[in-house]
Amino acid sequence: MKKLCSYCHTEAKPYFRSRDYNRRVTQEIFAYYCCPNCGLIFIFPVPEDLGDYYPPTYHFAPETLGILKANAAHERYKIKIIQQYVKQGGLLEIGPSYGCFTYLAKNAGFEAEAIEMDAECSKFLNEVAGILTINSSDVCGALRTVKSYDVIAMWHVIEHLPNPWETLEGICEKLNYNGILVLAAPNPDAFQFHILGRYWPHLDAPRHVMLIPIKLLVEKMEALGMRVELITTTDEGGLGWNIFGWEFFFSNMCADLMVKKMLKIVGRAAARLFSLIEKMEGKGSAYTLVFRKKV
Ligand SMILES: [Zn+2]
Repeated sequence: MKKLCSYCHTEAKPYFRSRDYNRRVTQEIFAYYCCPNCGLIFIFPVPEDLGDYYPPTYHFAPETLGILKANAAHERYKIKIIQQYVKQGGLLEIGPSYGCFTYLAKNAGFEAEAIEMDAECSKFLNEVAGILTINSSDVCGALRTVKSYDVIAMWHVIEHLPNPWETLEGICEKLNYNGILVLAAPNPDAFQFHILGRYWPHLDAPRHVMLIPIKLLVEKMEALGMRVELITTTDEGGLGWNIFGWEFFFSNMCADLMVKKMLKIVGRAAARLFSLIEKMEGKGSAYTLVFRKKV
């Protein structure tokens, strides 16, 4: 059976096989393929029961709004990025988890709403955080039911979606003119990925079903009538994901909690060692992109 690239429909080549090194939910082996034409990397087959690979501890669950607030502080940089392009209006976050960013957006004056696949997170957002949230794993279907927005945000979500291209089309339809899509995801051109390959924590098999090169997103969004406003791998989030990657690469080597802690320190040292390379634009572990809908 041909493994066709979902972006350019070229036959993809086997790339590597990986396991769930990050969470150890399963001992299964997952095959990843790479498109020789466009560079898209994807898992095949996508596990049918993908939801089963998200352990109960996947989302950090705040017991109160106060705890959410305290944890939201490190996501303020996301609001600053958005406010450079849009100061106010309707904002939709796709995949907010417990909603640290959505909550900050609401406090910054945006009319914030969300679409979230996890039922507990959705309940918290609706009932505790006061953010209108649709509980659905069908992002495209949910998008068809919502109004239009000035900002749509997807922080580390697109790599989880088996149908990213259709989702991006749905998003563009739901953006007002001059509205923006802000999107962050693991960068397959990252220095760390070239060094660590199948062991790269940002591969996160099998939950990350796709690693999308920046140039494909730019091409796709321009074809949908969007203009590039920002491409970076050195925003605060991107720099943080570099450290995360090294910490988890080393701590994933062992299941013992005490040893893990020590290995994380080794990871931090590696992060310092490679920081000069990883701080070069395009080499970081995660990119943040902003696209604006042309009038
Ligand atoms: Zn391709």
